Amino acid sequence: MAVTIAMRGYRAVLGALIVASSALVFTAAGWAGLESLRGQRNLAQLEELSGQLLQRAELAIDYAVITLGDYTAPSNDLCNIEALRTLRQQTFVRGAIKDIAVLAPDGQLMCSTAPAQFDLLTSGSARLAEYESRNTSIVLQPSHTEGSGLFRVLWRIGETHSIAATLNIDMLMFDIFPAQLRDEALAEIRIGPGDVVARFGDEASTAPSQTARAFSAASDRYPVSVALATSQTSFRNWNPWPLGPVLAIGAIAGALIGLLVAQTVMRPPSPVEALRSAIRRGELVPYYQPVFDLVTLRIVGCEVLVRWRRRDGELVFPDRFIPIAEASGLIVPMTERLVEQALSEMAPLLVEHPEFKIAFNIDPSHLVQPGFLDTLDQIVAQAGSPNSRIVLELTERNAFPDMKQAVAVTSEARKRGYRISLDDTGAGHNGLGHIQDLKPDVIKIDKKFIDVAGTVEAADAIIEVLVNLGQRMGAVVVAEGIETEDQRATLSRAGVAHGQGYLISRPVPLATFRALINDLERLAKPAKNDPQMA
Ligand code: C2E
Ligand code: CA
Ligand code: CA
Repeated sequence: MAVTIAMRGYRAVLGALIVASSALVFTAAGWAGLESLRGQRNLAQLEELSGQLLQRAELAIDYAVITLGDYTAPSNDLCNIEALRTLRQQTFVRGAIKDIAVLAPDGQLMCSTAPAQFDLLTSGSARLAEYESRNTSIVLQPSHTEGSGLFRVLWRIGETHSIAATLNIDMLMFDIFPAQLRDEALAEIRIGPGDVVARFGDEASTAPSQTARAFSAASDRYPVSVALATSQTSFRNWNPWPLGPVLAIGAIAGALIGLLVAQTVMRPPSPVEALRSAIRRGELVPYYQPVFDLVTLRIVGCEVLVRWRRRDGELVFPDRFIPIAEASGLIVPMTERLVEQALSEMAPLLVEHPEFKIAFNIDPSHLVQPGFLDTLDQIVAQAGSPNSRIVLELTERNAFPDMKQAVAVTSEARKRGYRISLDDTGAGHNGLGHIQDLKPDVIKIDKKFIDVAGTVEAADAIIEVLVNLGQRMGAVVVAEGIETEDQRATLSRAGVAHGQGYLISRPVPLATFRALINDLERLAKPAKNDPQMA
């Protein structure tokens, strides 16, 4: 009992451990997977942001080019006051454009809608760097002041002059980053290989040593490119998963999987598996039921009946596992170990009582297996007992799988010295056929006749027939299941020699069996001097 409770406790703890560790592992692995997914998603978003910023810059330049085109088309009188005024009004509404100017080939200002912007851009020196676009007559010129947002789109329209738009694209940047990144991110718009025209963000937190991610994109129409970078920390903290729900889902899914695993791992073994390991662990033990002389009450032998003594102390009776043993073939190793064990523990008793016989129940399917007798010989020889002390009980309750083979084996067994007993005689469907075929040395009358012996005439008649048959064939007749003194007396009168039954003893372990023999030895009276028993 205590062992069962301990086992249950152990299984419960093991199950809980499996479920908990699965929940833990699953949550951790799930979280790691989600985090790597988030990293990839964040990278893709940054790449998209740099594309968007580039597009904004290109659009601003496109507008400038279109505006310049409008200006050149109608007349050549570019520095006409009226034309400049109209233009100033137009550029005012066109977002990034701050000035339209006409320039001499050396870059000197000829006229402008907002001359102050010209000064701001050039900071005194009229010559600015020039970077050609795909359309080579359009040139981009960054201002001298890095990051001012100012640059010029210049269109060379003739030998004598060019027209140029001054743009401020600072405002293109301001909402480019999502709030979570804004504090530690940097965006730059560059013209040519490295002139930074506009800059948004914090250079320090995105310094190369700690830049988490940097992206750049370059235009194929204009010599303009953008670069984006974020710090390690802001990139790591960007777009976080909702921690609570994710952990809860991970833990629940993990626990469910753990439950499945625990169920599979801890599924109780099948009956066959359980029996197999019980045999291996030696949990199947022999019990002994005495066979006694119906007159003297002296014990003349015993029948070995198997019991399954579980580790928790429970004793399981053969009707619960013999059918499984027979169906699975485990009956063979079970019987072999049982014979080994019984003979080894009975060895001294067999020496002390030279007439004592020990009977084993042999399943018919086992009997007809090749090598059955050779293996039995080995086991018996190892125990040091002569074959003549061994009785093989074959039940007539079930049909023999191969009667011819059974007859051959039993006759060979007899030659080797074993005695053959026909168990449950009268309980089968073969009439007296088995007696005729197997020629047993012992005929055991089935308990159902003994139960009613002396009260049902037909039973008495059958007992009489079997006793006569036994005498004719030289077989000992044994009555099974004698429970009362009346039954013993009736059977004894009917000429039955030996008996078995609760009247003398139930099947018991060896120690009890030995004590019983000693007690009965003391009580036993010689047959002739016992008027009561005769
Ligand atoms: P069985 O060979 O006919 O064994 C006799 C059964 O009757 C035993 O039951 C025994 O305990 C029971 N018995 C004996 N005297 C009395 C009595 O006076 N009254 C009553 N009511 N019962 C009595 P057990 O030990 O439970 O065995 C049941 C059956 O299991 C056996 O019937 C036998 O067929 C099978 N069995 C037992 N041990 C083995 C074994 O080692 N090998 C094989 N193949 N079968 C076995
Ligand atoms: Ca038996
Ligand atoms: Ca029997």
